[in-house]
Amino acid sequence: MIRLHDTMTREKRDFVPLNRERITMYVCGPTVYGRAHIGNARPAVVFDTLARLIRHEFGEKSLVYARNVTDVDDKILASAEAEGVDPSVITERYEQHYLEDMRALGVRDPDIAPHATQEIAQMTALIERLIGLGNAYEAEGHVLFSVPSDPHYGVLSQRDRDAMIAGARVEVAPYKRDPADFVLWKPSGEGVIGWESPWGRGRPGWHTECSAMIERHLGETIDIHGGGQDLIFPHHENEIAQSRSAHGGAPLARFWVHNGFVDMGAEKMSKSLGNIITPAELLAQGHKGETLRLALLSAHYRQPLPWTESLIEQSKTILDRLYRTAGEAEAGEIDPEVIAALSDDLNTPAALARLQAIDEPATLKASAQVLGLLEDSAERWFQGGADATAIEARIAERAEAKKNRDFAAADRIRDELKAEGIILEDGAGGTTWRRE
Ligand SMILES: [Zn+2]
Repeated sequence: MIRLHDTMTREKRDFVPLNRERITMYVCGPTVYGRAHIGNARPAVVFDTLARLIRHEFGEKSLVYARNVTDVDDKILASAEAEGVDPSVITERYEQHYLEDMRALGVRDPDIAPHATQEIAQMTALIERLIGLGNAYEAEGHVLFSVPSDPHYGVLSQRDRDAMIAGARVEVAPYKRDPADFVLWKPSGEGVIGWESPWGRGRPGWHTECSAMIERHLGETIDIHGGGQDLIFPHHENEIAQSRSAHGGAPLARFWVHNGFVDMGAEKMSKSLGNIITPAELLAQGHKGETLRLALLSAHYRQPLPWTESLIEQSKTILDRLYRTAGEAEAGEIDPEVIAALSDDLNTPAALARLQAIDEPATLKASAQVLGLLEDSAERWFQGGADATAIEARIAERAEAKKNRDFAAADRIRDELKAEGIILEDGAGGTTWRRE
């Protein structure tokens, strides 16, 4: 039995899907205007791991996983203007980068990836319904959701009204009936991307797309809605208000699952703080995607994850050890303790600790793959990338020492490599190396 912590009820509950043959999960995806940083990669890796666990438990075809692409947004428009290009140039470029970066971390593509610009009709239909129900109103080319019209508003974040208004940093606008009201549709000036609508030419507010996409692709009530903790308020609160109001009070999601932040030093990693590091930079430094994936899974997903050099080093050391044990074994039986750990609210630290205690290669390989690890061959893991480069640098150092008749140094390098499981063989053509 999988148990998941639900932000709505603030407790761990048994995960019993509405329909075990069509389990539905929606995760808020990227706004594609810049390169994803490692903090953005955390939800992608966490929910990919949850998807793998659900498929293990309920069957490969049991899950429909949707992750949207926000491809209309003011930050995108600002980037496009700064570069003097069409917004689609920005969104196509950064969506491609996002997919490449996440695939490098072993993240499988979701089953459905709806794009905001492809769902405008669904959004305007939703907005029209909300207006008809008295939950939204038009004002000066805008459409706003009327927060006082929804008695449940605040149910997820459990904030009081003043904190909500402060937290939403709502702009003061004369056309708002209530300061907490939020934008469903806004007008587009000339030269700005927009679509014709009953309220004039404009574009959707950010919160609108998720409600419209979930309704269209997954249904009124889904099993799991995921995202980072920073989305609880206002984004998910607003999604709930829109969807519940449009669906006669039907809940939007049965489980709300939120991951914690990746921290740099004492601060949350964020573009606005300028303290980001991207998977692309880390991969260019020679780290492997799988190392970064293990690092992202090393803390429980609800806890903050401090990102450090030593975390990356430790993660690589663990993978070296796991690949050495697994060798080239075919995946065999899955270890029940690994599944038990993951089933306990995705306890990846416990699952990783258990993996390191498995010495049966086929079991290790199969069990690690539920976490998206050990999907490579051991040979490729050890030969490729930074690891091989580092070994060859040491061999060059040893050759240099021998040339200088510093045999003690040469022997020391050979012994150090041997301790790491690297055997050197001196021949006529120079020194070659192999794994023990
Ligand atoms: Zn969303």
